[in-house]
Amino acid sequence: MANSKYAYVRNFELPDPLLPGTYMLFRLDGHSFHRFSDVHSFTKPNDIRALQLMDHAAKHVMEEFPDIVLAFGESDEFSFLLRKSTSLYNRRESKIVSTLTSLFTSCYVFYWPQYFPDTPLQYPPSFDGRIVLYPTEQLVRDYFAWRQADTHINNLYNTTFWALVQQGGQTTTDAHATLRGTLSKEKNEILFSRFGINYNTIDARFRKGSVIFREEVKS
Ligand code: ATP
Ligand code: ATP
Ligand code: MG
Ligand code: MG
Ligand code: MG
Ligand code: MG
Repeated sequence: MANSKYAYVRNFELPDPLLPGTYMLFRLDGHSFHRFSDVHSFTKPNDIRALQLMDHAAKHVMEEFPDIVLAFGESDEFSFLLRKSTSLYNRRESKIVSTLTSLFTSCYVFYWPQYFPDTPLQYPPSFDGRIVLYPTEQLVRDYFAWRQADTHINNLYNTTFWALVQQGGQTTTDAHATLRGTLSKEKNEILFSRFGINYNTIDARFRKGSVIFREEVKS
């Protein structure tokens, strides 16, 4: 079939190589997980089972792709750093993004029953994926700092929000209103004075996200 008169259509496929010698940062994020977490009754603000399942799927992906050296996860997202020298799939962007996203997604579904034995999946979850190239190590460091700052900001908000709802008896609308315009300091204060929660003692995984790295073992 390779030489059929139809083969010319192949020429419409455009190459999509990623710039050589740059760090690839691959990030995926759950599609509509606000709804997914609702439908599957995730514990709020942080369902530890869901986070462990994300970590498990990420580890599997890292085991299958040795050029991934570092991963960072929070909420419904995971970031993966690939060596700048990687020649994975000749650095073809859509091949890499689609393969990694689909492997992660199928792992999420495959390992689901280990973490949610009593909660059958109600519908097939999906993730989006993208690659951003970073030319320097400093940028890569700032990238991870950015994601971790995001984890902190979201978690402080969510922790205070759910304390107001679950322990303070506020409606979700009221809780959002209470928190509108508040600074971190004020959220910490609400948590401590109203609910006796010292934010700094909350599980580090919730406050800082999870990190998976590849260690070279000399044999
Ligand atoms: P999008 O499709 O644009 O990503 P989304 O609904 O997934 O939309 P995100 O900004 O990605 O929005 O936020 C993910 C949401 O999933 C969180 O706000 C939270 O409600 C929920 N979620 C994800 N992981 C957990 C978890 N471990 N425990 C509780 N809730 C979670
Ligand atoms: P790549 O990752 O590059 O796609 P591949 O092994 O998937 O590698 P393909 O060119 O996509 O290679 O070919 C898929 C192969 O899967 C077929 O050559 C065939 O061996 C096998 N295969 C797929 N579907 C079936 C099927 N329904 N019955 C039997 N074999 C199948
Ligand atoms: Mg989003
Ligand atoms: Mg999402
Ligand atoms: Mg998200
Ligand atoms: Mg194939």
